[in-house]
Amino acid sequence: MSMLDLTLNTEENQEELSDTNSLLNRLGYDIVNGLNKIRKCYYWWHTYFETMDYCPKCGGLLREYNNDYEGANKVCETCNILLNDTH
Ligand SMILES: [Zn+2]
Repeated sequence: MSMLDLTLNTEENQEELSDTNSLLNRLGYDIVNGLNKIRKCYYWWHTYFETMDYCPKCGGLLREYNNDYEGANKVCETCNILLNDTH
């Protein structure tokens, strides 16, 4: 797992971070995609407003994540998306 942790999590950009098609998420996801050519990395998906059972990228069912990283509890290994869904 990547130790690079870019945090843009502020109250001002919660809506943008929750939008699958926002420029911020598209750019961030592209960076993670590039890094995955070198080593396994995940894109942290922010969940502020709703419970997520399906991947915001591919729509597949999220799996339980048990690797004890920053409270993450769900993952899509296909899209390399990790999230903490405690709603
Ligand atoms: Zn996915």
